[in-house]
Amino acid sequence: MGAEDRVIWRDGEFIAWADATVHVLAQSLQRGSLAFDYMAVHRPSRGPAVFRVDDHIRRLFNTCGIMGLPIAYEVDELIEATLETVRRNEGARSVRISALFPSVEVELVPQDPHIAVFIAAYDSRKDIIEGKPGKPHFAAELSLKVERVKRSRRHDLIPPQAKVAASYTPSLPAKWQARREGFDDIILLDEHDQLTEAPTSNLFLVTADGTLATPTGEQALRGITRDSVIQIARELGFAVEERSIGVDELDTAREVFMTGTSVGVWPVIRIDGEPVGNGAVGPETARLKARFDAVVAGDVPEFAHWLHPVSQSLERPENPDG
Ligand code: PMP
Repeated sequence: MGAEDRVIWRDGEFIAWADATVHVLAQSLQRGSLAFDYMAVHRPSRGPAVFRVDDHIRRLFNTCGIMGLPIAYEVDELIEATLETVRRNEGARSVRISALFPSVEVELVPQDPHIAVFIAAYDSRKDIIEGKPGKPHFAAELSLKVERVKRSRRHDLIPPQAKVAASYTPSLPAKWQARREGFDDIILLDEHDQLTEAPTSNLFLVTADGTLATPTGEQALRGITRDSVIQIARELGFAVEERSIGVDELDTAREVFMTGTSVGVWPVIRIDGEPVGNGAVGPETARLKARFDAVVAGDVPEFAHWLHPVSQSLERPENPDG
């Protein structure tokens, strides 16, 4: 199945991939108001499963709540629609759900406040990346730059919990510049020089005393992978701290890694040109990565409930009224 054969859910109906478009003057395109979420489809032996689908859909509703977007669905309806979209798109590895104002508008506040929801399930590599000219950027181990010119994670402007298009606008030029300078990605700071996150992933440090530390849920998006890694790490016996972390702590960190839906646990080996620790993937990062990979492969019973099989609909009470 290629992209041209895929179907996309739009407001309750399946339409062809090529028809899932909006007008160039759509409010969300012009004003950056599109809310979205992105989740992984894993393929454990018992069949395709969406990772923490309920948490992702709840996060989409949270984004809509923060941004005041009047989404007219229930959480369960969009979980069901997500599972059905994966069922209808063979070989899908990920799902992107978008909520937006498709209406062409004159004013910032839309005259027609209908929020359209689109759900696409696909294989990023086969359906998108391979069809483009040039090679995609790829690094198994990361070299990062710290963005010191602009403090772009201001939670008084766009709260980090809002997964909305406009929130990626300041990180685009920062990350693009870092790429031109030969780095893979960029660490964003807040206005108090505290670490926050990278444009699309969360940040973890293994500190000198072996504690796992990550910026707070007020400073960075509460990534689903971030939360999963925190729980997995606690189960493995790590002390985990969600706290404010000054940029200077990067100098003494033994290990650094990032997390995200598309990358899992991603080791960082250089920051601003200097090696992290001894410049190789650290043992704690390797241990957490191995455990996370086992969880998404369905090999860890304690966390098997995070994998929602697409063959299974939501469990509802047989007769809710008794
Ligand atoms: N931070 C930001 C700003 C992101 O866009 C993402 C990707 N969704 C993440 C962190 C990682 O979150 P998750 O683990 O839920 O993919």
